[in-house]
Amino acid sequence: MLTTLIYRSHICEPFPTEALKEMVAAANAKNGQAAVTGILLFNGIHFFQLLEGPQESVFEIYNHICADKRHYNVVELLCDFAPNRRFGKAGMELFDLRDYEKEDVLQRILNQGTSKYQLLYDDRALHFFRTFVEATEKENYFEIPRPDSWAFIPEGDGVTLEALPAGIAANCSFAFQPIVDPLAQEIVSLEALIRTPCGDTAQVFFSGLEDDALYEADLRSKQVAFRLAGELNVAAQTLSVNLLPMTLVRMPNAVDFLLAEIAASGLIPEQVIVEFTENEVISRLDDFTNAVRQLKAAGIRVAIDHFGGGFAGLSLLARFQPERIKINRELIRDVHKSGPRQAIVRAIIQCCTSLEIRVSAVGVEQPEEWMWLESAGVSHFQGHLFAAPAFQGIPAIAWPEMLTEM
Ligand code: C2E
Ligand code: MN
Repeated sequence: MLTTLIYRSHICEPFPTEALKEMVAAANAKNGQAAVTGILLFNGIHFFQLLEGPQESVFEIYNHICADKRHYNVVELLCDFAPNRRFGKAGMELFDLRDYEKEDVLQRILNQGTSKYQLLYDDRALHFFRTFVEATEKENYFEIPRPDSWAFIPEGDGVTLEALPAGIAANCSFAFQPIVDPLAQEIVSLEALIRTPCGDTAQVFFSGLEDDALYEADLRSKQVAFRLAGELNVAAQTLSVNLLPMTLVRMPNAVDFLLAEIAASGLIPEQVIVEFTENEVISRLDDFTNAVRQLKAAGIRVAIDHFGGGFAGLSLLARFQPERIKINRELIRDVHKSGPRQAIVRAIIQCCTSLEIRVSAVGVEQPEEWMWLESAGVSHFQGHLFAAPAFQGIPAIAWPEMLTEM
């Protein structure tokens, strides 16, 4: 199938036009063999390239392009299918925007096109050309430094409890993972993640539990989370716990139980945030918002977890506004390389900024993900890059240290 891919990237060092031409000539030979055609625009700083051809060949060449050390911040803007090639002339043409007048550069590019329909129909690919040539999206390019410009070195050893606190006979335990503000070097909150008594995952703990047994286990487990947090001396730290929305709706006196356990662990309600998963919230929103009122009345804050992972997305915020949202890992992974993810994350941030909802990013593993998100305005992060969850303990945190000038 004829596949179209468009990307944008940043040149590493300015190099002479001659070298650029050589580079294109070498690429041309390779692309020609793979039946990949297209056009390459250059504005002195950024490349913008459209590749068209058989899917496998396009992907292979694109992988090669991504690995090329002469450019960085390669962002995939479009990957789609088309009936005809737009730029079907053999090889890959280089179009240096600096050689043309601004007014007619777009028309000149389109003149290179080979699709007879190009000007008749609304074509996303050609709209990307216009946006690049007119530089209307430039403030969203977020040029991030190289990943090796920061080092992430864990500070200290963290703390671990040998056993559950005395008097707690539980069928579950918890791991704790910090949510951090890396530039301020502050822990924003500690999230309690449920585990089996021997440390197996949340999924293992919940497997086999259904309906009331599930909600009951979910609610009762919070006793262990609060006691462990108390024992770990979280002091004035904010503590995040997860609950199924239906646990709050279906378990009688759930809020009273939580409040009693918070107090018995030496904590206060104002330091607790309860996280609910987005797609479970939406299915019974009215029941849920009623139950949340009681939490709020008691001083407990609410976060929506896995935001963007369910089907509700931003429309949920029209009906319910939490104190925080946590952007789902699906949107965070490789965000620095993906135009669509960047657009969605930017929209979430913009919307939450208007609503004064704090945004955090979950599952951050790569320095580039973190750097891109910081540039986009996120300052709270959770992920292995900074600290993995520690079973019955609080892990050491790897704060970023700048190695080279940006
Ligand atoms: P969550 O609330 O989004 O918790 C974060 C999950 O992401 C945790 O998985 C954590 O181990 C994982 N994680 C953290 N950093 C990274 C990273 O950099 N990369 C990757 N790949 N993963 C990372 P975990 O502990 O397996 O928990 C899975 C989910 O189970 C949680 O997702 C939460 O929705 C649910 N859960 C955990 N504890 C409870 C609980 O007490 N009650 C309820 N109802 N659900 C819980
Ligand atoms: Mn969570």
